[in-house]
Amino acid sequence: MRTFAYESAADLDAALRSITREHTKVIGGGTNLVDLMREHIERPETVVDITRLPLDGIDELPGGGLRIGALVRNSHLAAHPLVRSGYPVLAQALLMGASGQLRNMATVGGNLMQRTRCPYFYDTHAACNKREPGAGCDAIGGFSRGHAILGTSDSCVATHPSDMCVALAALDATVEVRSLRGERRIPLTGFHRLPGDTPHLETELAADELITAVELPPLPVAAHSRYRKVRDRASYAFALVSVAAALRVADGRIQEVRLALGGVAPKPWRAAKAERILTGAEADEETFERAARTEVEGTEGFKAELARRTIVATLRELA
Ligand code: SF4
Repeated sequence: MRTFAYESAADLDAALRSITREHTKVIGGGTNLVDLMREHIERPETVVDITRLPLDGIDELPGGGLRIGALVRNSHLAAHPLVRSGYPVLAQALLMGASGQLRNMATVGGNLMQRTRCPYFYDTHAACNKREPGAGCDAIGGFSRGHAILGTSDSCVATHPSDMCVALAALDATVEVRSLRGERRIPLTGFHRLPGDTPHLETELAADELITAVELPPLPVAAHSRYRKVRDRASYAFALVSVAAALRVADGRIQEVRLALGGVAPKPWRAAKAERILTGAEADEETFERAARTEVEGTEGFKAELARRTIVATLRELA
């Protein structure tokens, strides 16, 4: 067993000072970090507990939209009346993630920072560029049924595991982060990185920054939204493919659409190509098919077909 120091931050400034030290990890719900520490993948010298910080509010913004504190538990967020009515895709995505017990512990900030569930990443006897830069990737050419088909590189084909983040990508969410240098805001779609040749660098969050909140813009189309998740078993499983969609149709034409995919890429995948085809087009099966095919064009394997079918089924249901 490796020993580590535990600190409980009394306020935000104390937490921000603590994370400027090397080999320090932040813990909220601990539903991913503790697993990673048990497997000796994360080996922090200090763990800073931030659960005493006042970051657990869900507040309406003056111009509309919601500000969700980084320490809001997944189950609390999924049950919030304004999320259920205004952003049902988010409530559904949360409820399809993990298990009831895990959702009661897992936080919004932790969900954003969770690491891939690639089995080779967790097997310290396997070669993995994400765990050990330059080591190689045993998933490429190995058992890769669950791996990504979009946004991959020769270094890494792992998928991002979050359901919540797929919904947030569709909803144009923004991540608010703080450091001793100040505050900045990062669009959710730009928060996670594609692997390129540095798959160990997973987000735009700097080492001295802490996620403080996620903001949802006022988005009327989001009231008519849906999350569909396809997985190997009915619960407590990661997505093979998931689709977050919001759609507004008038006079048979698509006036507005938001579409994002999970389980197919190293980050929550905003389906921009499909959105361009859908916007302004007739809301019919032919359009949905064309948009779905375009989004997964050039990809192979069962996930490509599964993604196509899941996109079409979700849009059909919403229309
Ligand atoms: Fe590691 Fe990525 Fe390869 Fe999985 S796919 S073994 S996480 S480098």
